[in-house]
Amino acid sequence: MPFVITDPCIGTKDTACVDVCPVDCIHPRKEEPEFQSATMLYIHPEECIDCGACVPACPVSAIYDSLESTPNSQKDLIEANFVYRSSDPENREAAEDIVKRHIETHADLMALPPSERMAAH
Ligand code: SF4
Repeated sequence: MPFVITDPCIGTKDTACVDVCPVDCIHPRKEEPEFQSATMLYIHPEECIDCGACVPACPVSAIYDSLESTPNSQKDLIEANFVYRSSDPENREAAEDIVKRHIETHADLMALPPSERMAAH
């Protein structure tokens, strides 16, 4: 059951989670060319080993520990995490399209600073 990155990561992209992930399943990394254009970071659902290291590392509490625990307001971003692949431009674009729609349809959450969004989920 993979962990899921949600909308506090939008506008944050802190990458502390990337540094602590033992299996390198969070992308894009800072040194990857797509980092600058990516709206948020994503967890590869099949590579995640559910270790939990990323959760306390995230400064804005963006990461949920399962699909079930991901709140309804963030369920659309489960799919974004599932389709994102660093190596595939089409998959990257598909994930970013989901995130763009999330931003458009969650103006209330986006109006909050990233550090306050999780409490509003
Ligand atoms: Fe990486 Fe562990 Fe977080 Fe999964 S739970 S994304 S393996 S740090």
